[in-house]
Amino acid sequence: MKPTDIKPTDIKPIPAQSIWQKLGRLFLPRACPGCKRSLGEAQGVCLKCRELWQAQITDYSPLREVRIPHLVFLGDFTLELRRTVLALKFAGSREIAEVLAQILAPRVPAWWNITSVVAVPLHRRRQAQRGYNQSEILALEVAKLLQKPYQNALERSRATRQQAKLDKERRKRNVAGAFTVPSSLQGQISGNVLLIDDVLTSGQTLKACEHALLEAGATRVYFLVVARAKVFK
Ligand SMILES: [Zn+2]
Repeated sequence: MKPTDIKPTDIKPIPAQSIWQKLGRLFLPRACPGCKRSLGEAQGVCLKCRELWQAQITDYSPLREVRIPHLVFLGDFTLELRRTVLALKFAGSREIAEVLAQILAPRVPAWWNITSVVAVPLHRRRQAQRGYNQSEILALEVAKLLQKPYQNALERSRATRQQAKLDKERRKRNVAGAFTVPSSLQGQISGNVLLIDDVLTSGQTLKACEHALLEAGATRVYFLVVARAKVFK
């Protein structure tokens, strides 16, 4: 049928409700990013997945040689938690970040005496492409719950290759010196900083960020991530 053959009676009006239902599904996915079951009344992540995750504090990670508790995390980067982290990364959902922050933040011990919260930055180009930084979305929620200021204190001074594709030595070289504290914030960083990222793998990225923060005046750096991935050997 050519377009000219269509008579006005052939064109059926689309009920307004169906457009709104479609839009609603676009903006409010009602499936849990972790287990794909219906979210029900829950926001961001379903109640079953939330029950699975217990925030932990550990003294053992590639970030420290001395066994002092320094890292808060939820679990391994597998199954439901992995899918949820990827949803946070690629959808930038504040609702997911809120849920993760609600489980993680209460586990940050008072004795860490956190002064400010900082996120691992994306390179400017990647942030512009994506429109957000998933670690920052999470860090803002954690800062709110801890009632501490969030500081946009780090920038990625050069683009780096994806750490996941490199071996340990190359990872270290890839990120060494890649993070800096902008000159406007030099001397404005003090006390103990809580540094936040979505996934901990080899720890080289977090260590490079820690180095920049200490250089800029931080006393100590503690870490909070959603998930811990197996270290690439
Ligand atoms: Zn779920």
